[in-house]
Amino acid sequence: MNERQLLMIPGPIAFDPAVLRVLSTPTDSHVSPEFIEIFGQALDDMLKVFLAPNGQPFVVAGSGTLAMELGLANLVEPGDRVLVLQTGVFGERFSDIARRQGAVVDEIIAPLGDAPDAAAVEKKLASASYKVMTVTYVDTSTGVAADVKRLGELARKHGALFVVDGVCATAGMECQQEAWGVDVYLTASQKAIAVPPGLALLVASERAIQAFRSRKTLVPSYYADWGKWLPIMEAYRQRKPAYFGTPAVNLIYALQVSLKQILAEGMDARFARHKRLSDGFKAAAQALGLRQVPARPEVAAHTLSAVYYPEGVDAALLKKMAEEGVIVAGGLHPEIRTRYFRVGHMGPAAPSDILATVGALERGLAALGHLVELGRGVEAAQREMGKSN
Ligand code: PMP
Repeated sequence: MNERQLLMIPGPIAFDPAVLRVLSTPTDSHVSPEFIEIFGQALDDMLKVFLAPNGQPFVVAGSGTLAMELGLANLVEPGDRVLVLQTGVFGERFSDIARRQGAVVDEIIAPLGDAPDAAAVEKKLASASYKVMTVTYVDTSTGVAADVKRLGELARKHGALFVVDGVCATAGMECQQEAWGVDVYLTASQKAIAVPPGLALLVASERAIQAFRSRKTLVPSYYADWGKWLPIMEAYRQRKPAYFGTPAVNLIYALQVSLKQILAEGMDARFARHKRLSDGFKAAAQALGLRQVPARPEVAAHTLSAVYYPEGVDAALLKKMAEEGVIVAGGLHPEIRTRYFRVGHMGPAAPSDILATVGALERGLAALGHLVELGRGVEAAQREMGKSN
């Protein structure tokens, strides 16, 4: 990759140089006092970033899919009912994981580009005794964001544990894990947490830990069993050595640095910045006459934008934008895969990154013969991002 290229895909993202630099620190013993302090700080800081002061953090080497499995497999036993709310391809993954655990899975599949209807969810929750309900906060295949706060109220009211996939949301979109009744909030390192790929992260509520402790059967997966990881996480939080599987030492250095940066910015400011960048990009897309996959602004994610190509334009646009030095992603949802593209704007992204991306988009469209007034999208983005709150 050309080092001056701007990576604007929905993960992995462009990381802060201080986070990248610490990766090349000589690897320490995972039980050295220095590493124990760093890991302990990272676990403590996770609770502040997840807004779950009484939660139980877990950091395990693996990708976001492992975080999903860690989140679900420890709560579900054969025969348990699980309700999966789907807004794109990552919801389906939850269904697959739950079925592997022997769960009876029901699904509510939102129309493409829309979020689950709260009334339909409530009706379904009332119709049977669900042990767990899952939702994807931001489905990266559609750019749709679910109303986690409202869904949390419904899950609580009907006694279901609430598992939220925050892979494309955590530390970018507001989630007050504890206040909103989220029992497991999970993510991966490579998105808004802003650490290179390789860490599965999650915070479990006290209720979730209790549900885990009252299981009647062993968790079928050895590596994903909370029973193996709980004593380890507890030990590091008490600044004591422990071992189950070797932690990804250098990635944990990077995690500790990134979490400190996130907290220095402040959660509210960070959520507001992500919204501002998103509003800027979306205003540009609209000014250029491009339709978005999310049906309405209220269901559109702040961490990425999913935008349809205009008439006569296809994925050749991505190549043209890459020639301009900006990398964006193609489609992912099988129903519309070739008809849209995705732009990530999370982590340390700044207004200037949005302007560069919109500039490359305009130039790419023009290079493909699409009638576009150069500067129109940039102006809309400038105007939107320049608004005072
Ligand atoms: N959930 C969501 C919302 C995602 O966007 C992704 C990956 N893009 C995953 C889960 C799976 O994460 P990973 O690719 O790190 O396994």
